[in-house]
Amino acid sequence: MKIAALASGSSGNCFYVRNKDSSVLVDAGISCKRIVERLSLLGENANSIKGIFVTHEHTDHTKGVDVLARKFHIPVFATKGTIDNSFLCSDEDLINEIKNDDIIKLAGLEIEAFSKPHDASDPVSFAIRNGKMISILTDVGHASKNVINAVRDSDFLVLESNHDLKMLREGPYPYFVKRRIESDIGHFSNLHSGLCVLEHANSKLDNVMLAHLSEINNTPLLALNTFNSLMKERLDLKPEISLSLRSSTELFNV
Ligand SMILES: [Zn+2]
Ligand SMILES: [Zn+2]
Repeated sequence: MKIAALASGSSGNCFYVRNKDSSVLVDAGISCKRIVERLSLLGENANSIKGIFVTHEHTDHTKGVDVLARKFHIPVFATKGTIDNSFLCSDEDLINEIKNDDIIKLAGLEIEAFSKPHDASDPVSFAIRNGKMISILTDVGHASKNVINAVRDSDFLVLESNHDLKMLREGPYPYFVKRRIESDIGHFSNLHSGLCVLEHANSKLDNVMLAHLSEINNTPLLALNTFNSLMKERLDLKPEISLSLRSSTELFNV
């Protein structure tokens, strides 16, 4: 498998996973045009995409779904809560309802949906397997059992590192928004994501891609430093650490 973050952060999220000649997307929160452009920068092609898996209804995860799905005739997979609470696609034939714990076989991959704690109606994360396992864990409020299992079993982890707690608390957001972000159904902080890997990851974990960084309440350096300093406590764990930022796109081998 190969994986790339085509976009990550509050302005849009889109992850591309390729297996041989086919691929899937997890979320399409940037425009179809930008998805096609970023794929071509990687030497990839949207014609290979066999499915778009949507994690939840927030627009930073859904914005590009409709145009992309219709233009390339790609089926869309989402829970009923996500389908009912967002405009995913005007061609209803392309929409497929999935449930928590469903495993969909597509593009030679097994894609498992599992529920996660976030302030949406039925949010899920996805684990993608083909011998190795990739988990894409963004928009998670706390380390629930499903989140811990995914961290424990993954070879490649995309993990939310949304904010630095101090920057969030002292930052410009209104109090109620700060409360929501910090809540059990909000977003993982730098500390949350580092502690989650420190406490639960298996030594087979090869890669951690820190994702969904806030542009207001975090910096790439703070996210990396927090993570790396916590990792020093696990001598058996030496994952390669990367950051998924808006401007950098790289295709990683899994
Ligand atoms: Zn989000
Ligand atoms: Zn969200």
